[in-house]
Amino acid sequence: MAHGLGKSQQPAFIRQEVLFKKKSHCQEGKGRVILMLMYFDSHAHLTCDTLSDQVAPLLDRAKAARVTDILNICTDKDSLEKGLEWGKNVKRFYNAGATTPHDVAKTGELDFPKFEKAARDGKLVAIGETGLDYHYEHSPKKLQQLFLRRYFKLAKSSALPVVIHCRDAFRDLFAIADEEYREGGAVLHCFTGTLEEAEEVIKRGWLLSFSGIVTFKKSESLREVVRNVPLKSILIETDAPYLAPQSRRGKQNEPSFLVETAEQIAQVKGFSLEEVATATRRNAFELFKIAERALF
Ligand SMILES: [Zn+2]
Repeated sequence: MAHGLGKSQQPAFIRQEVLFKKKSHCQEGKGRVILMLMYFDSHAHLTCDTLSDQVAPLLDRAKAARVTDILNICTDKDSLEKGLEWGKNVKRFYNAGATTPHDVAKTGELDFPKFEKAARDGKLVAIGETGLDYHYEHSPKKLQQLFLRRYFKLAKSSALPVVIHCRDAFRDLFAIADEEYREGGAVLHCFTGTLEEAEEVIKRGWLLSFSGIVTFKKSESLREVVRNVPLKSILIETDAPYLAPQSRRGKQNEPSFLVETAEQIAQVKGFSLEEVATATRRNAFELFKIAERALF
């Protein structure tokens, strides 16, 4: 299948109705239900400094590409305030919040109460992105671990799932999670680990989110991971404005480019685009506890 957005994106603009077998947890329909092609971008920084003055046109283009649901990741006071504002006014615009592991040394302490309040007030669908990044180590490892523990506790006490960022730190992540966060849901965002690490994630009942990296020419080993994990464990994301897919490599990324990642996953796993779009959207709805009737 072509990777370019030209021909390959066209089907996303056409109203496609597919017959989809009723799942046991689906409350509507009589055995079979009709679904349209719709995508859930499970990770985009729409209210970050780079994109926050372009949210309206970005949402228009997302809608045209049938990216109907977006989880906006808020990482500081400003992006959180803007995110909550957009969330009030735009349907299917959801927010998650936390200081990233990169920034915990700078703003972790200052911003924690703001994310805590938003979580307790029911304004977030997830805590994150939090986690560990030993690759860049912009903040000391010990401090990253401390904040990860605090965010796990916040997620538990506010009954929210966690969006996790993890780079070169899986051993510590799993060890901390096994102490602090045994029961709750989570997604490993922008997963680029090994199959063994993916299996450890799935074993905990967590999901893996794949970004445009999966479309890169050199990402054969990541595509091998995609091939070997079940569709029910997969989310898709852009991580906009970062990580534009292969056909837009180096450009500013945006939710409408998500389709290319979905196409790649469909091709690798031998599913139709509709199956990948529907399953990943349904998985996101379940993880973030968004009412399933919004699917219809
Ligand atoms: Zn991110």
